[in-house]
Amino acid sequence: MAPYRQGGNSLDNEAFRAHAHQLVDWMADYLETIEERPVRSRVAPGEIAGALPPAAPGKPEDFAAIFRDFEQQIVPGLTHWQHPSFFAYFPANSSPPSVLAEMLTATVAQVAMIWQTSPAATELEQVVLDWLRQMIGLPDGFTGVIQDTASTATLAAMIAARERASDSLVNDLGFRAAPRLTVYCSAEAHSSVEKDVRIAGFGRSNLRLIDSDDAFAMRPDLLASAIEADIAAGARPAIVVATLGTTAAGGFDSLRAVGELCARHGIWLHVDAAWAGSALILPEQRWMLDGIEFVDSFVFNPHKWLLTNFDCTALYVRDTDQFVDCFAIDAAYLRTREGDRVTNYRDWGIQLGRRFRALKLWFVLRSYGLEGLQAIIRRHVALAGKIAGEIAREPGFEILAPARLALFVFRLHPPGLDDEARLDRLNEQLLEALNDSGQAYFTQARAKGRYGIRFSVGQTATEDRHVEEAWALIRETAGPLIAEAEAA
Ligand SMILES: *Cc1c(COP(=O)(O)O)cnc(C)c1O
Repeated sequence: MAPYRQGGNSLDNEAFRAHAHQLVDWMADYLETIEERPVRSRVAPGEIAGALPPAAPGKPEDFAAIFRDFEQQIVPGLTHWQHPSFFAYFPANSSPPSVLAEMLTATVAQVAMIWQTSPAATELEQVVLDWLRQMIGLPDGFTGVIQDTASTATLAAMIAARERASDSLVNDLGFRAAPRLTVYCSAEAHSSVEKDVRIAGFGRSNLRLIDSDDAFAMRPDLLASAIEADIAAGARPAIVVATLGTTAAGGFDSLRAVGELCARHGIWLHVDAAWAGSALILPEQRWMLDGIEFVDSFVFNPHKWLLTNFDCTALYVRDTDQFVDCFAIDAAYLRTREGDRVTNYRDWGIQLGRRFRALKLWFVLRSYGLEGLQAIIRRHVALAGKIAGEIAREPGFEILAPARLALFVFRLHPPGLDDEARLDRLNEQLLEALNDSGQAYFTQARAKGRYGIRFSVGQTATEDRHVEEAWALIRETAGPLIAEAEAA
């Protein structure tokens, strides 16, 4: 078939139709045979870039040639996040309805910046985020907006908190006019918190990392003393970021204990539940919302554990007027006759142009229903608990962070080998060997200073057998490493 010309004419559309069918077949084959591929890509750094031409083509190229290169040059450089033996990081799970909706999103190519540029994208986002709010048990009074990532959503919350704490002085006059503002989170909080602190202009030296307890939860007593010390030194505490489900070890900060302190001192409380938030669709996991009445903003990622393709982050805020005031800019060319009667999501965060991300969420929520989604997450939680129990009972292995939801951390700890530095090295070797095998993919964590392997369950297609096979692989891989360590 001829290369594409300018688009829009019937000949091009005919080609588009044929290519689209071809790709759908490839997509279904990919998902069907994904287990035959190594989970983590095996390419070396520079290998992909080195195989590609150094400049863009001058003349149009044929679709067949582009697609052949996709298969031959690009696919080997993919790490397969949708592989059911993907236990690294947190899941970024997708699902067939989400993929189909993404095809439509790309085709209609909306820019959902103001109501008028896409009434459907705006109003579907309002409706679907309220469905989602009810599904996760957030009380009335929280209003949602989709952001690209939790990092960005937390940044937006920090900016709103900054303005509340400075009476809008930072937005108006800059930091020099405002008191010194301080930020708090646990030492287990996600790295995006520090990044956001820098970007929002607080300054890294005004971020307090509060130590956590044995269960990896922020210690409220230490938070209280840090806040009091800052106030005594003339600073104004602006925001506490509490985490539900910390990234390394799955700790849960107490919203009640942290929230009472925030209420006492008039501090914005933001909750980062990026991963764990999806589990709130299970009524039996709502314990983590105890104290939600103290919370000003709450973020979680349907793009992690709710079968919705990356990117799709749900941010909920309580005082939407104050939030929108931080971001609204009255540009003449963006004014429309609907005025205040509609929501213009450009005023709800950093981006002006926004993708139509509510569509895939709508497809997912309708295709599975609340009960279908609950069954999947419940299965993941049960699988993680079961395998953590088996590992805990196995001589020579040790749990460093017990299973919380679908995450735990373990390490190899052969009897008689107690040197921490050697144990760290042994477990690093184990991790690399597991990942090099291509049969599973894990990442590492430090739990209370000890190097461990994170076991995170949550890919849509992960079943009992994948988790059991991973555990068998761990035992098999550990055998020769233990022998080597004993000989050394
Ligand atoms: C994954 C994660 C993030 C970052 O999520 P992005 O959407 O990639 O920015 C933030 N916080 C926690 C607790 C996470 O697990």
